[in-house]
Amino acid sequence: SLLPSLSEEQVRRDDRAHVFHSWSAQAQIDPLPIAAALGSHFWDYAGTKYLDFSSQLVNVNIGYQHPRLVAAIQEYAGRLCTVAPPFANDMRSEAARLLADLAPGTLNKVFFTNGGADANEHAVRMARLHTGRSKVLAAYRSYHGATAGAITMTGDPRRWGAEPGLPGVVHFWGPYPYRSAFHSSDVEEEGARALQHLRDTIMVEGPGTIAAVVLETVVGTNGILVPPPGYLEGVRQICDEHGILLVADEVMSGFGRCGEWFAVDHWAITPDLITFAKGVNSGYVPIGGVLISDTVAATFDDRAYPGGLTYSGHPLACASAVASMTIMREEGIVEHARDLGTDVIGPALAKLAENHPSVGDVRGLGVFWALELVRDRDTREPLVPYNASGSDAAPMGEVAAECKRRGLWPFVHFNRVHVVPPCTTTADEVLEGIEVLDEALGVADRYYRG
Ligand code: PLP
Repeated sequence: SLLPSLSEEQVRRDDRAHVFHSWSAQAQIDPLPIAAALGSHFWDYAGTKYLDFSSQLVNVNIGYQHPRLVAAIQEYAGRLCTVAPPFANDMRSEAARLLADLAPGTLNKVFFTNGGADANEHAVRMARLHTGRSKVLAAYRSYHGATAGAITMTGDPRRWGAEPGLPGVVHFWGPYPYRSAFHSSDVEEEGARALQHLRDTIMVEGPGTIAAVVLETVVGTNGILVPPPGYLEGVRQICDEHGILLVADEVMSGFGRCGEWFAVDHWAITPDLITFAKGVNSGYVPIGGVLISDTVAATFDDRAYPGGLTYSGHPLACASAVASMTIMREEGIVEHARDLGTDVIGPALAKLAENHPSVGDVRGLGVFWALELVRDRDTREPLVPYNASGSDAAPMGEVAAECKRRGLWPFVHFNRVHVVPPCTTTADEVLEGIEVLDEALGVADRYYRG
């Protein structure tokens, strides 16, 4: 083999010497070398097995090393590893056709990208050219990726280091009933006030200056914020009133994560553009893209679209997406994810909230859930401050460490634990993981003073 067999020691040493990691102070990290993975688990070199309640970065929807997906990738690698975008390619055509079939409304064309951030870059470029307007509205408490435009649209601290960013991005508040920006007292009021806030923002920014409203259909890393009934329909209507395009970022929420192919399928709306990546092929090969409505696509019928990527519609990546979507359909994986949410995860997390005072809120759907940890249920003071680091973040670090000690790999962000396992996780595995959470939350309860 051309691929050397490295010891854990060699992996660690060369990682520390030569690999520059995302989002990290390079001297302060010690990445765990992963030896293998299968289904809902991965292993380190010592043979310690972890049940993955994070799906890596909430992208391994189909689970690790799905044998049919691995076989399809191997098969196509043997046939044709690469062909540039100006040519047509069988698996690119097929991936685009399958995506258009799954997508709502007239989202019939796909521009393929390398991942989620560049999908959002291109969605915004299309919206600007289609409308002839420059401004973009994006939500606070959002993440859209780490390239120049996507990080500017991001509404969380990950943007700060990239500022001032690109001109023309304006942030607004979306609905978040548990920590309402609108002092609302229930979910309906939250949705209505969030819509009024969006209307007001558009009024003062100038409706004729705004190309697009960009939002995560269900907000992911910033807290699994499921929109109140009527909110997305209201946003759609406001956009229509002003000729503003609606861009739904489904990079994290799509492909089974919310128990539907697309999260928007939960609501009766069709965005003008949907961006996707992650779950479309579970990251077995990098790919993302923009689903484009007929109306927006027509703008570029006789006018060149000014954008491209060497790997747009990469054949191997597209083959993996074709295989992944086919497997998900044939094996009922989206339906399984939906049932896990309603029958298993939702009820089990509700029970955790009964048993642990530190659990202030439980929310989610499908395999997309959050526990919000607090020091006091009345004041809702978070277990750790927003954007806490160092010793301030220690209580959440302790909860995470307790999970790992017991063989569960958690997804922890600020004062929240997200329960985001692969869509293929069995009910028994989910319950096993939640049992570990039950133990680990004892650590959070010790900080409770309400
Ligand atoms: N949009 C959302 C909602 C995401 O969660 C992410 C990644 O976490 C991105 C965009 C960026 O995707 P990528 O990391 O593939 O560029």
